Amino acid sequence: MIIFVGVSGAGKGTQSELLGRDTGYDYLSTGDILRAYASPEQKLKMLGGELLDDENMIAIVEAALRQQRDANKVILDGFPRTIAQASWLLDVIKRKGLIIDAVIHLQVSAAVVQSRLQGRGRQDDTQAAIAARIAWYERYTRPVVDFFKAHEIPVFDIDGSGATSAVYAIIKEKLNIPKPTKE
Ligand code: ADP
Repeated sequence: MIIFVGVSGAGKGTQSELLGRDTGYDYLSTGDILRAYASPEQKLKMLGGELLDDENMIAIVEAALRQQRDANKVILDGFPRTIAQASWLLDVIKRKGLIIDAVIHLQVSAAVVQSRLQGRGRQDDTQAAIAARIAWYERYTRPVVDFFKAHEIPVFDIDGSGATSAVYAIIKEKLNIPKPTKE
């Protein structure tokens, strides 16, 4: 299992998809699941940039993982975003004998986030919602990185502010993914 952690706009989705292609791992994004299945009440929270309840998120991820052919071959984007979610996940990992290959912590400044997300133009990419997502990230999600480090999970702190291909090259190097052989 590979886990992406980073503030909104850090490039988790973009990098996850590239990595999924090269590793054959399945891509699992809680944001994508919620955009398809969220209740009206959850949609309102998402539009405000708030995090949804841990119990709901855990239930969603539990169901999604159960559907995977191989839970070791999954890239998680958008989960865990709180310590409660992270400690649930570590319990599952232990109980099922799964392995976290790496946590990729993508770091970008608030200025980069604002300019990238205004370009993306998703419904919840208003200036106020972006500011809220950054604030929730600082308060609830950043501690998850230290939590993983404290549990001796391999965490890679990666500067996500460069171009997509440059960031991806760093990720591949850290994860030891071989370069494609020339024909
Ligand atoms: P972004 O691309 O901005 O990182 P996502 O697409 O991952 O955002 O998620 C969109 C919204 O879905 C979040 O702002 C939040 O409201 C909700 N959400 C997604 N994952 C989680 C989670 N693990 N815990 C709580 N809320 C979540």
